[in-house]
Amino acid sequence: MALVWGGLVVMGLLVMPGHAQGSYPPQLDPFLNDYAGLVTPEDAAAIRQLYGDLKQTTGIDAVAVTIQSLAIYETGDQTIESFATNLFNTWEIGDRDRNDGVLVLVSAGDRKLRIELGSGFSRRYDAKMQAIIDDHMLPAFRAGDYSRGLYQGSQALVTQLQRAGPIGSSPTSRGFAGFVDWLGWQLTRLGNAAVAITAGVVGGFGAVVAVVWRSYRRHRPRQCPTCQVAMLRLTEATDDLHLDPGQRLEEKINSVDYDVWKCPQCSRYETHRYRNFFSRFSTCPRCRYRTLRTHRQVIVHATYSHSGRERVRKSCQHCSYLNEYTRTIPRRHRSSSSRGGGRSSGGGASGSW
Ligand SMILES: [Zn+2]
Ligand SMILES: [Zn+2]
Repeated sequence: MALVWGGLVVMGLLVMPGHAQGSYPPQLDPFLNDYAGLVTPEDAAAIRQLYGDLKQTTGIDAVAVTIQSLAIYETGDQTIESFATNLFNTWEIGDRDRNDGVLVLVSAGDRKLRIELGSGFSRRYDAKMQAIIDDHMLPAFRAGDYSRGLYQGSQALVTQLQRAGPIGSSPTSRGFAGFVDWLGWQLTRLGNAAVAITAGVVGGFGAVVAVVWRSYRRHRPRQCPTCQVAMLRLTEATDDLHLDPGQRLEEKINSVDYDVWKCPQCSRYETHRYRNFFSRFSTCPRCRYRTLRTHRQVIVHATYSHSGRERVRKSCQHCSYLNEYTRTIPRRHRSSSSRGGGRSSGGGASGSW
């Protein structure tokens, strides 16, 4: 057996191109990627059935992979643990938010196997995976029946995960170890929420700073450059007299604010313009006032398989500018959350035979 695998490894090395930076094998099947050709057609069908059931009942993505050896991929990974973590993250196994993917990796030439867990699993699952490897996989592997070992391990894995309920459910171990376990679980669970909250706080803070800064710029005292005395800001009602019709419309539709300042001695006037960040209006290409309104009407909705069409109508509220045209709406793309995006931070268990 070892001779056969040795031969396959040598063949694999011969077909690898030069000394180019290697890469991980592609994921060609959602459930089983038998690159080493270890699994019989019957067991392959049974494994796919098991993982399909698991996906349907729990939403968990489990993928089994067999490879001839770590070395033929020239990825630089020295251990099956590091290869498994990197392969897991390259394939983005499991849901992006739950991080509940599972990778079962068998490297025949290295006589090593690994069950790699997504970062959503609490660490107590490492021991459960170790038991599956030791009790359900290694006995068959040692007897040379890789196909049986992978099938039996998959069966035990699926049973375990279907029975377990939520994979991040609060650990049951007691005492300080239990507390540390629980804390780790909470931090993992809160990871995504914490990022969202931080982004919200930073974004909210930025908006507050922008509003305060704008208010300061508008209201700070001004001096007349010639008389050196403080100028006065006219009220909204009286400043209209000093604005042209376009400016008055901008102020009315709230796309721009104007302040008019007046010197009490030399009757110098200054007009200051402040764009409203949140206005729906844009600048008209003809009259240059910020009075251009854009209407969109979908004619054909874009789908995942074809692009759509929409009618766009840009009209100025101030001048007679009007531009109407139809444009293509790009085909929709599935968000990465609906097809994986899961990460592993190295949890799981390994075995060798
Ligand atoms: Zn003055
Ligand atoms: Zn215009």
